[in-house]
Amino acid sequence: MHPLANKFQELFASAPDIIASAPGRVNLIGEHVDFLDGFVLPFALSDVTTVAIAKNSIGKIRTSSVQRKGAISIVDCAALTPKSGEAWTRYPIGVIWSLGIDSGLDILIDGQVPLGAGLSSSAALECAVATALNELFDLGLSLSDLARAAQRAENIYVGMPCGIMDQSVSLMATEGNALLLDTKDLSIEQIPFDIAPLGLELLVIDTQVHHALVDGGYAERRASCEKAIADLNINSLRDISVADFVARKSELDEKTYLRAFHGITEMKRVLDAVTLLKAGDFVGFGEIVTAAHISLRDNYTVSCPELNLAVDTALKFGALGSRMIGGGFGGSAIALIKAKDSDLIKSEVKSAFMKERFKSPRFFSALPSAGARIID
Ligand code: ADP
Ligand code: MG
Repeated sequence: MHPLANKFQELFASAPDIIASAPGRVNLIGEHVDFLDGFVLPFALSDVTTVAIAKNSIGKIRTSSVQRKGAISIVDCAALTPKSGEAWTRYPIGVIWSLGIDSGLDILIDGQVPLGAGLSSSAALECAVATALNELFDLGLSLSDLARAAQRAENIYVGMPCGIMDQSVSLMATEGNALLLDTKDLSIEQIPFDIAPLGLELLVIDTQVHHALVDGGYAERRASCEKAIADLNINSLRDISVADFVARKSELDEKTYLRAFHGITEMKRVLDAVTLLKAGDFVGFGEIVTAAHISLRDNYTVSCPELNLAVDTALKFGALGSRMIGGGFGGSAIALIKAKDSDLIKSEVKSAFMKERFKSPRFFSALPSAGARIID
């Protein structure tokens, strides 16, 4: 029996009907453009969130998480309203709401994706639930449908105006590949990212600075990009070239200009990065990754001292490219490094953090892994 089925049995005194899992992600390039119709290039981590679910006949949703010490949170399934209930339960319950399911359910969650580290534990949780419910209720939804349902859960039920990237990659990723996703129509291309045989490694540096994306900076920056679209009277930042945008600088206030400039240049960087990856040019690819960091730091202003120190130190000790990932204000950075430099870079980042009296960082090595699946 799956270990989570045992725990489920202890907690709810019955067996789960289904067990499913979905991964967290890192994004190689294309940050803060998935709500702007941009291209993004994430891949799925081997770390997954697993959910065990059973229907119940008491008309209630009972939710529990190993990461919340197994306490059970109970809501009436006839009365699901966005932003109600305990904050962390809104992610799984939001998916139930968004899929229009009105059955009583028991849910047990166990996540390996670190919470709030910029590795999208939120999408991993949503997509595990969506995958399980699609099967359990025979909904027959496509992966794009499930991604949109999970995004709607986070946007409306949780109240976090995230784009569609995290949910898409958690559902659509395949092993050994990064996912080139066009967030306008969710069309995809799998881009091989098999770096181990080349002696390369993708190091994830978790600064252990935890953000709370739901409140604040993320939504405000997104609003700036939407303001630029309105002020310039265009349909999408995707429809304007960098040169045309720069030529119209005087039509925007400084903050709006810089934030939208990030979006427009970042969309171009993704396509350039894919061209370089296809040509096997990892040095050029690394340079674009670093350029993305500089734009996130200086134009979009979502970095923080810990992320900048992680990136600068990794680059100083040989990384081909490095940048902050995720929503920002904390969380993780990635560095494309030669595997032989791994120990050196980790110890240099660690001691640089110590010198600044920052919290000690954590390190992971990320390999492109498969998307969501039914386990049992
Ligand atoms: P990230 O997606 O980068 O990890 P978010 O703030 O978007 O950060 O999502 C993290 C939130 O998702 C947590 O604070 C919690 O509410 C919820 N969550 C994710 N995984 C779990 C889990 N295994 N158990 C309980 N809550 C979880
Ligand atoms: Mg998240």
